[in-house]
Amino acid sequence: MSNYEDRDKCHFYYKIGACRHGDRCSKKHIRPSISPTLLVPNMYWKPSSDDSQTLQTDFDAFFEDVYMEAARFGELQAMVVCENKNDHLNGNVYLKFALPKDAQAAKDSFNTRWYNERPLYCEYSHVTDFREAVCRKHDMQSCERGDECNFMHVQRPSPRILTDLERAQWRERSSKGK
Ligand SMILES: [Zn+2]
Ligand SMILES: [Zn+2]
Repeated sequence: MSNYEDRDKCHFYYKIGACRHGDRCSKKHIRPSISPTLLVPNMYWKPSSDDSQTLQTDFDAFFEDVYMEAARFGELQAMVVCENKNDHLNGNVYLKFALPKDAQAAKDSFNTRWYNERPLYCEYSHVTDFREAVCRKHDMQSCERGDECNFMHVQRPSPRILTDLERAQWRERSSKGK
């Protein structure tokens, strides 16, 4: 790829999967025609509560629900949910599969369904390496850009939930002989 093409491309769209200018961006946003990663924009809505336990319980239930549903289509390698407050990242869910064909099957199914009384919509995303997309300062609670930051502020499930889900997925795969 030449440098010229690189300059034309929107850094945020390719690295984070979403850019605050959306379709009006002056740089190029070209959707991938296939990818192992799906993006479901604005899928998670935080309940209005100040109680951190209530918020974590609600999020864990959501995470488990979506993870299990996605893993039915194939090996899920990562599920990332953003808690940024800006419109283009708020509640975004990224699902990275091992194989693009499994992402395709999940996409075809999700796009015919509803979630939380809204039609589900998902698209392929260029993001395959979350290390470059995630705001590390947010993980240390020191992001000076706050909720409007343009890098992913990742909302984490309880560690136990993630371990259980990964184990369940592994058991399911090995019982099917995949
Ligand atoms: Zn852009
Ligand atoms: Zn940040």
